[in-house]
Amino acid sequence: HSRQEIRNIAIIAHVDHGKTTLVDKLLQQSGIFRDHEHVQERAMDSNDLERERGITILAKNTAIPYKDYLINIVDTPGHADFGGEVERIMKMVDGVLLVVDAYEGCMPQTRFVLGKALAHNLTPIVVVNKIDRPAARPSEVIDEVLDLFIELGANDQQLEFPVVYASALNGTSSKNADQQDDNMKAMYDTIIENIPSPTESVDEPLQFLVTLMDYNEYLGRIAIGRVNRGIIRQGQSVAVMTRDGGMKQARIEKLFGFQGLKRIETDQAGAGDIIAIAGIKDINIGETIADPQNPEALPVLKIDEPTLQMTFLVNNSPFAGREGKWVTSRKLRDRLFFELETDVSLRVDETDSPDAFIVSGRGELHLGILIENMRREGYELQVSKPEVIVREVDGKKMEPIERLLIDVPEESTGAVMESLGARKAEMVNMINNGTGQVRLEFLIPARGLIGYRTNFLSLTRGYGVMNHAFDSYGPLIGGQVGGRHQGVLVSTENGNATLYGILGVEDRGTLFVEPGAEVYEGMIVGENTRDNDIVVNICREKQLTNVRSATKDDTVKMKTPRLFSLEQALEYLNDDEYCEITPKNVRMRKKIL
Ligand code: GDP
Repeated sequence: HSRQEIRNIAIIAHVDHGKTTLVDKLLQQSGIFRDHEHVQERAMDSNDLERERGITILAKNTAIPYKDYLINIVDTPGHADFGGEVERIMKMVDGVLLVVDAYEGCMPQTRFVLGKALAHNLTPIVVVNKIDRPAARPSEVIDEVLDLFIELGANDQQLEFPVVYASALNGTSSKNADQQDDNMKAMYDTIIENIPSPTESVDEPLQFLVTLMDYNEYLGRIAIGRVNRGIIRQGQSVAVMTRDGGMKQARIEKLFGFQGLKRIETDQAGAGDIIAIAGIKDINIGETIADPQNPEALPVLKIDEPTLQMTFLVNNSPFAGREGKWVTSRKLRDRLFFELETDVSLRVDETDSPDAFIVSGRGELHLGILIENMRREGYELQVSKPEVIVREVDGKKMEPIERLLIDVPEESTGAVMESLGARKAEMVNMINNGTGQVRLEFLIPARGLIGYRTNFLSLTRGYGVMNHAFDSYGPLIGGQVGGRHQGVLVSTENGNATLYGILGVEDRGTLFVEPGAEVYEGMIVGENTRDNDIVVNICREKQLTNVRSATKDDTVKMKTPRLFSLEQALEYLNDDEYCEITPKNVRMRKKIL
């Protein structure tokens, strides 16, 4: 492709607004797949865990041929834990598609990713997706998007953003809200017309910035990025400019371009191309691959600081080794350090004990995914309660603040506001559009959200929806930020359980349920503040499926014992407890002092 025929774009959205479906459809309709080839594999989420959680953890590249053009689409994770990656991707592209659900409108992750795109001077194409939904409200959503652009400081050019209305599900699109064409042509054309082609020159000395890392058993480390200028050739010698200002020699063993979802080996690539390079052993994100005759480094990429840390320990319970195959400190250490190969925002520190490591990451999701992957690989380990990493800025202690957006039935508004007040949340917006649902927006210390979800679900009888994303660092607020009556998570052995943990946040040690009560895994018990009853919520896959009341001394019986979800466990873990993780189970246990 000539440079004029290349379009490099990122796709950004709140989770579930339809990125993956959209890219799938763009690929399908571009005709590069024969019909049976796209059935199973969805374009972007290739890892099971990503698919289950509906998130994209590592950015994935898709290259879509359209007429004489090549559209490179880089997927971005919407979750704030992966903000550093989003920023890096913004530097690699010339435009973005912002996908917004035509019913849900702008959500915290929409705000988060849009903020990054605008800050990088990109003019997003706004895709109002799911236009087929019966409750779709496209014109209101466009107004919301415009407000958000203004609030985030968009410049005049950015405020002129192009809009495409689409149903990724049906494979239709249009520039017009009222009627859909029966294909994605409007979408392709809007991309071709509005996203600039790369302007870098192939005639200058080579520069390539390593922006993303992948790893493959056979190829080792794979560096992904955009050729910033010049030409890169398979087999050529290059200089690698390291993050610390050093320089070393290397050879380009293998060079790949992208075609559809595949990496295709290629002889050479030029300025503006997005490529993958294998064979440089210790290559890392932020390093520049340059012409050895003319080695110049690009500005070093910023890597996000960790905000949350946990201790990872060898499982030393008397039952260790029964359920997992990897149980020694050596194995644990190797696995954690291996993770550093591809994950730059992770930090692993050794401790005085060879059995314990302090693992610091971007948030609960980031660390939770690592733990879950290890569990599935056969590791047994213990993890401690996550702790927010407080930062020193100009001699002041600062803590992470989240922006929380909630939709609740009108009648629950008072109770929800009260519960968040106790957690030191500050309300910044409230919209009551008379539909019976109220949208509230808060800024809240990240600590205050730990363990809030169950409380919130019982206050809204399961009808509330909450979403949050990192906003900023703010002065550390003194004291506890937890609510009064948080809830109890229980753990079991063989389905018949003893109660291990009383997990109030402020009322630590208060008994909500008699110890020894018969309970089953997956059960969350919390106090209903209004009538002092105990409300029992059974959480399945984060969905509240059943609510019933019980009195304080009730023995509660339930069928279908199931695992804790790891997220629940991490959210509710108390200081004197740890979580035991094995391939078969996630258990909360009291620390033996
Ligand atoms: P992602 O998290 O942004 O990648 O979202 P997905 O592409 O996985 O879509 C999330 C859900 O929304 C899936 O159940 C899709 O089938 C559904 N979805 C995606 N696009 C549309 C659409 O245009 N209309 C409707 N009704 N549903 C859609």
